[in-house]
Amino acid sequence: MNGQDRSTTLHTKLITTLWDRGDIRSEHIKSAMLGVKREFFIPKLLKLESYIDRPLPIGNGQTISAPHMVAIMAEEMDASPGQKVLEIGSGSGYHAAVVSRSILPGGHLFSIERIGALVKFARRNLDAAGIENVTVIEGDGSLGLTSEAPFDRIYYTCAGPDVPKIVMDQLCDGGKLLAVIGPKYGTQRLIRFTKSGGEVEEEPLSYCVFVPLIGELGY
Ligand code: SAH
Repeated sequence: MNGQDRSTTLHTKLITTLWDRGDIRSEHIKSAMLGVKREFFIPKLLKLESYIDRPLPIGNGQTISAPHMVAIMAEEMDASPGQKVLEIGSGSGYHAAVVSRSILPGGHLFSIERIGALVKFARRNLDAAGIENVTVIEGDGSLGLTSEAPFDRIYYTCAGPDVPKIVMDQLCDGGKLLAVIGPKYGTQRLIRFTKSGGEVEEEPLSYCVFVPLIGELGY
């Protein structure tokens, strides 16, 4: 088997495992995850670990999320074709790539990242993976991205103390926001906020561990 066939086999096996475990629950997210090769988002020296279900270092003290966490968040966020999405924390661009496939055709994802080197890394990886509906912006995502608001979906890939009003105001009526809330280091919780008719419903989901949101309204 050549290298390419081997990576395709490992990729398919990983997605089957996530399906069997219930982390992937819909055909929609299954096909989005099958459509993105994680190896494009992994630093050169770690490529062989691309299809192992764990976070990996991507430089600057940051990590690419584990595939099961990307699957769980994509399922809980439930984005649809044509939607406009904001991601806070681009990292490698992998999570953005998966979500961007779930909003095709017509959807667009804006991702904001505070570390310049990772902005370049994410852009390069997304290009290599052939993803065309993601815009990576350098800036402090703790304030959201007012210039492109409102969004149908907003999600954080880093943990903050709360969701500030300025970010919640960037969510459409009927929109969903997934945040990771908790201490700077230690166990945090994934929380889903759903806005309808001016009210915001809050649902605690699974426990998790993410890198901290650093910024004006972060840590
Ligand atoms: N989703 C990514 C993982 C991102 S790790 C992936 O699939 O690879 C979290 C990222 O959030 C890090 O790159 C970190 O630099 C970024 N981050 C932390 N605070 C931020 C802020 N205030 N604004 C934008 N990005 C931030």
